[in-house]
Amino acid sequence: MAIAGGRSVRWLFNLVRPQSARVLVVLAASGLASALSLAPPWLTRFLIDDGLIGRRIDLVAWYCAAILGAAVAAALVGAFNRWQYLTLSSRVLFGLREAVFAHLQSLPPTFFSGRSTGDVMARLDGDVAEVQRFAVDTLLAAVNSVLVLAGTLAAMAALCPSLLLPAFILLPVQVAITRLMRARIGILTRKVRERSTQLTAFLVETIGAMKLVQAVGAAPREQARLVQLNRYFLGDLRRAEMAGFAVGAIPSLLNGVAAGIVFLIGGTFVMKGSLSVGALIAFVSYLGRAGGPVNTFLGLIIAQRRAAVSLDRLAEILDEPPAVMNPAEPRRLPSEAKGEIVLDGVHFAYPGCPSLFSDVQAILPAGVKVGIVGASGAGKSTLIDLLHRHYDPEAGRILLDGCDLRSLDLTQLRRRIAVVAQDSPLISGTIAANILYAAPDASAEEVIRAAVAAEIAHLGLDTPVAERGASLSGGERQRLAIARALLQDPLVLILDEATSAIDRETEQRIARTIDRLFANRTRIIISHHAEVLADADRILELTPTGFAERRIGSAA
Ligand code: ADP
Repeated sequence: MAIAGGRSVRWLFNLVRPQSARVLVVLAASGLASALSLAPPWLTRFLIDDGLIGRRIDLVAWYCAAILGAAVAAALVGAFNRWQYLTLSSRVLFGLREAVFAHLQSLPPTFFSGRSTGDVMARLDGDVAEVQRFAVDTLLAAVNSVLVLAGTLAAMAALCPSLLLPAFILLPVQVAITRLMRARIGILTRKVRERSTQLTAFLVETIGAMKLVQAVGAAPREQARLVQLNRYFLGDLRRAEMAGFAVGAIPSLLNGVAAGIVFLIGGTFVMKGSLSVGALIAFVSYLGRAGGPVNTFLGLIIAQRRAAVSLDRLAEILDEPPAVMNPAEPRRLPSEAKGEIVLDGVHFAYPGCPSLFSDVQAILPAGVKVGIVGASGAGKSTLIDLLHRHYDPEAGRILLDGCDLRSLDLTQLRRRIAVVAQDSPLISGTIAANILYAAPDASAEEVIRAAVAAEIAHLGLDTPVAERGASLSGGERQRLAIARALLQDPLVLILDEATSAIDRETEQRIARTIDRLFANRTRIIISHHAEVLADADRILELTPTGFAERRIGSAA
């Protein structure tokens, strides 16, 4: 298990450490609340022995007032504690989620194509919450329990030391049962988490593909799949919950047995006159309270296993290496950068796959318009991913204005090379918000200019765009992505089948506008439409052994 390696535990510790001041405040407040909760049985003893049996109504009144005072103080401290605790707990939860999310943002497209969105969501949500519960709730409860248990034991020892042994005689049995159940709970917990992941993955996928589901009449089939997944989930959840319940219930039952033993033995002491009735009642009352912390400790053994399962599932994401690293001391692009691209012996293969292409050589001078063609699956989009440094070439290098891409700041590089893909992602928000996404500081006039150039302005800049652009047509989505790239003011503009859903006439108009606006920028265009590439300066065909020069006019 990854947790055994300690890396994930260290990671967790580093996230909790910044909150240590608040942890101390919460601990102090809960310590105080616990101390206050220990007072009533002690006061009850005197209330019974001195007040009731001694027939002193004034003492009864005083002790009642003291018990009430302790309860009010405990409630006030409890309220303060809840507030502090909520802040602490949320900060740890958000810190965990932000750390995983930050790591996710550094991962390559291969990671996301290899996993379902639901799987990642389930880890980011359910597993993060499980780990947080352990890191905050359980550990705080455990520390708190030490205080309560110490106070309770001290009070019990002061009341009647010879009853201590019978009171805790069953403790080793309780510990043994809990330890026995631990491994089983671990296995069941993993199953439940995986079932819950399957459910989330199913929902995310089906909702995303709802139109297809409806179009092919698959709704009853999908409904049946949900029912089946729910049934599996309930089965595993039931087994896990029952195991968890048994772990909690058996020790509680044994606590009851211990109270019985104490009453029996303590009763003989009372009858012999060596123990007062009040002291026996106070002792049993403390024994009941000791059950809470003991159960918390026993629960800790189980909670640790549950958290380990979730921590492992998060570690599977955190251990995923980013495909590219930002250089420690990035070079800046020269201020007179123009957008010259050199591909020098570039070789690439996806992990575990045969080589996609090798020895790709090309010098694309700044300002040229280059068409890239090749069979479907030849690796054209992959080549674009290399230009955007989603991956690095396995051999060879790519230079932008003389700088190896690996030496440049990643963000700067990606800002200067704008890529418009066939299906560029859109965000929910307005048309304007989508255009501004890559250049949030642009002015309103610049947004309008980009929208007009991409022929999207007539839709209205304030028109809302649904999630993933569902409220727009394919052509409108592509034009919106083109407007976004135009506003980015890149050195290199890459259009990867970016106008495939736009009618020929509009496509050519947009192409002319782009050529006018980007006359001196490098343009790389992947397209199956010969007309789009008709006025390209060069056309290169991507083959497994590199680029082959093609005649203009023979592109598609
Ligand atoms: P093109 O754009 O020329 O159609 P792509 O670059 O999209 O080709 O894909 C090239 C090949 O690499 C295809 O066979 C595709 O299945 C494969 N491929 C693409 N992405 C991945 C990936 N993330 N993992 C493994 N193989 C991939």
